[in-house]
Amino acid sequence: MPLLHADQSKGPPDNGEKQAKVVYRIPCSCGEGYIGETVRRLEARVKEHRNACQKGALKMSALAEHTWMKHHPIKWVKVSVIDQARTAKELLVKEAIYIQLNPPSLNRNGGLELPRCWMAALKYTRSGPNQRL
Ligand SMILES: [Zn+2]
Repeated sequence: MPLLHADQSKGPPDNGEKQAKVVYRIPCSCGEGYIGETVRRLEARVKEHRNACQKGALKMSALAEHTWMKHHPIKWVKVSVIDQARTAKELLVKEAIYIQLNPPSLNRNGGLELPRCWMAALKYTRSGPNQRL
């Protein structure tokens, strides 16, 4: 029988911040959210977003622009992994799909441009906005 990982049942609850190659969502207190993807660990990417927000790097981050212009606090503790992918390309496709399926969003654009028929099919087959693909 294989040994269980020591950290399997211990430690803080896993919000996915140690995972890499993820599509994530950073929610604002107003209910809108920013959807992004990273091939690195989520915690590294979130740190960059936080820095941009603290410094007011509005051009670098749509999230920073939103929180500064509207004075909305970002819910950093509610950052979540929406999905994972095996490759960088798959990440981009998934990010674009989630942005399209989860309006309103703070994203400045919808990410990768997807064939319209994909979106029609996805909207038709999914019953809720927060389901995994
Ligand atoms: Zn907001």
